[in-house]
Amino acid sequence: MIDHNDGDVLHSLASNRPFLWLNPIRDKGAGTGAVSTLSLADVEAAEQRLQKFAPLLQVLFPELRQTGGLIESELLKIPSMQALLEQTHTDFGGGHLWLKADHNLPVAGSVKARGGIYEVLCFAEELAKKEGLLQADGDYRVLATPTARQLFEQYTVSVGSTGNLGLSIGVTAAALGFKACVHMSVEAKRWKKERLRRRGVEVIEHSEDYSKAVAAGREAAKQDAFAYFVDDENSLTLFMGYSVAALRLQRQLREAAITVDADHPLFVYIPCGVGGAPGGIAFGLKQIFGNAVHCFFAEPTQAPCMLLGMAAGFKDNLSVYDVGLQVDTEADGLAVSQASELVAKLMAPVLSGIFTVKDNQLFRHLYRLEVSESVRIEPSAAAGFDGPGCLLSSEQGRNYLRANGLEESMHQANHVVWSTGGRFVPATEYQQFHQRGEALCAQTSQPHKHTL
Ligand SMILES: *Cc1c(COP(=O)(O)O)cnc(C)c1O
Repeated sequence: MIDHNDGDVLHSLASNRPFLWLNPIRDKGAGTGAVSTLSLADVEAAEQRLQKFAPLLQVLFPELRQTGGLIESELLKIPSMQALLEQTHTDFGGGHLWLKADHNLPVAGSVKARGGIYEVLCFAEELAKKEGLLQADGDYRVLATPTARQLFEQYTVSVGSTGNLGLSIGVTAAALGFKACVHMSVEAKRWKKERLRRRGVEVIEHSEDYSKAVAAGREAAKQDAFAYFVDDENSLTLFMGYSVAALRLQRQLREAAITVDADHPLFVYIPCGVGGAPGGIAFGLKQIFGNAVHCFFAEPTQAPCMLLGMAAGFKDNLSVYDVGLQVDTEADGLAVSQASELVAKLMAPVLSGIFTVKDNQLFRHLYRLEVSESVRIEPSAAAGFDGPGCLLSSEQGRNYLRANGLEESMHQANHVVWSTGGRFVPATEYQQFHQRGEALCAQTSQPHKHTL
C-alpha cells in the first residue's frame, strides 16, 4: 500500500532529479524512541572492545603504531571549500563547514574501516576464546601468533561488497590468516578487485548488482561450517563498529572548542549505500547529541535505495529498479538497489532526511575539494557536499529549519560533511575524476544553482 504522500515521493525519485526528502516520523523527543533496545551503552561497549584490540592492530598493521592502534581520521575545517560553495549560492549565514576525513582512514581507506575491521576482530576473538587461546583479560596480541593463525586458516571470512567493504574485510581477514573471499558486484572498480587479489583475497565477480552479490555470498557461506559471512544488510556488529565514529567526532569537536546544543546545531551529511556505515554513525551521534544534531544521508539520484525504503516502508520488497531507475552511477560505494531494512528501521527515529545527488555534481565537488583544500576523495565520498545547499537554499530545507525552530541559530551552526573514501584510488583513476570535475565546473560559468 502506497499512500498519496508516498506516491509523490516515488514520482520525484523516478524523475532522476535531485530531491530532498524529510523524514516524517523522526522522533522529536529525546533519544531514539522504542524501535530498538540499542543505546549509547552499546556504542561505548564497541569503543571499549576496539581499545582492547588496539595492541593487536599495531602488530597487524604497523602503520597504526603512531596512533596506538586507533583507526581514526581528522576533523578538518575547510573554509576555502566553504567559500567555493558560497559562490554556488549556498549561503551558510555565518555557519561553518567541516570535513570528517574518513577518505583518509588507514588500512582500509574508507568509512568501512571501523565497522569491517571491528567485525572481523570480533569473530577472531570469539574463535580464540572458544579454543582457549585467549582469556577474558588476556593480551589480544595472542591473535597474531602462529598458533592462532593455524586456527584461523581453517576458516573463510566472506562478504558481498561494492568494493570498499571488501577491502576492509579482506585486508583484515588476510592479516589474521583467515581465508578471505569477497563477492563483488558489477559496479565494483577493477582497481579494488586487483588490490584485494594482490593480498591473497579471493574475488568472485558477479554479473549482477550489489544486492545479488550479497545474497550469493550469504548462500555460499551457509553451505560451509568453516565460513563466516559478514552480512552488510543485517549485521549489528558491523553497525556498532561504525557507530564508534560518533564518540570520536564528539571528542574532536570538543578539542576544537565547538559547542553542540540547541543554539549551536550540528548538521551532518553522510553518503549512503546499503545504510550500515552512515546508519551507525547517525545512530551514535543521536545518542550523544540528541536533538542538537541533524543527520542527513546523501544518495545518487540513480540509487536512492534508503530513501525509497524509508518512504515506502519496504512494502512489496521495492527496489530502485521498480521506480524505473537503473543504478547507473559512478558512485560505486553507493550503487545499491535495496537498502538494509534493519538499518532503515533503526533510522526511522534518528534521521532528519535524505537528499539525492546527480553524478555530475559529485565530480564538481570532488574537483572543488582538491583545488580548494588539496583533499582527494572518490566520487561516492563527494555526495555529502550537496547537503548544506539542500538545507539552506531549497524550499524543503528551509521548511525543515522553520519546523525545528532553527532559523535563528543558523549563524552558530556547524556543518560536517563526511568524506567516506578515496585514500587508495590510483593516481591515473583519480586524474580522470579530476578532469571530469574540472570540465563540468568550467562549463557552468554561472555556477551550479540549487533548484530543488
Ligand atoms: C560503502 C560506502 C558508503 C556507504 O556505506 P553503506 O554502509 O553502504 O551505506 C559511502 N561511501 C563510500 C566511499 C563507501 O565505500
